[in-house]
Amino acid sequence: MNMRILRLNCAGLPVGWVSREQAAVLYVKEQVAWTLGTETTRMLGGINRNGRRSSITLAPIIACEGRVGVPGVVPPLSNDVLFRRDGYSCMYCGQVFTRTELTRDHVVPRVQGGRDVWTNVVAACARCNHRKGGRTPEQAGMELLAVPFEPNLYEYMYLANHRICGDQMEYLQARFGGQRNWQAA
Ligand SMILES: [Zn+2]
Repeated sequence: MNMRILRLNCAGLPVGWVSREQAAVLYVKEQVAWTLGTETTRMLGGINRNGRRSSITLAPIIACEGRVGVPGVVPPLSNDVLFRRDGYSCMYCGQVFTRTELTRDHVVPRVQGGRDVWTNVVAACARCNHRKGGRTPEQAGMELLAVPFEPNLYEYMYLANHRICGDQMEYLQARFGGQRNWQAA
């Protein structure tokens, strides 16, 4: 029901997820340049003058004209997306936790000049984060289970939406960087 539509720019770069209503507006304004995917949804509109209800068929992926910025070279860092990147597991003990049990750990701690960037942050349970304290993994004698990385735009779009249809997944996945295999997780 709440399936969102993947909006691209005309060059095929993901711009973001839009609601079906927002997508319908883009269709009506004739800003949709091309579409992808067969898993369409139909949206009913108003009753027109000859008494028929109008409807719009929405494709799961729409490329639109108009100047809308893509999220940028570096996707914004947030705990939601970070924890999803790491499969909701602590990158030190490997156990899976709920969102509220996880914390953002700076691999090189901030007190030692570590930056708050994708390549320096991992999901960690409160216990491991506390144990590590203001030390690097080496200093704390703790092993990092996976190297943190910055998701590319397509990975970011995947990680930022929990409900993705097959067509959308196919489009995004073909452009994943291959640094992590979320399908297997
Ligand atoms: Zn842990």
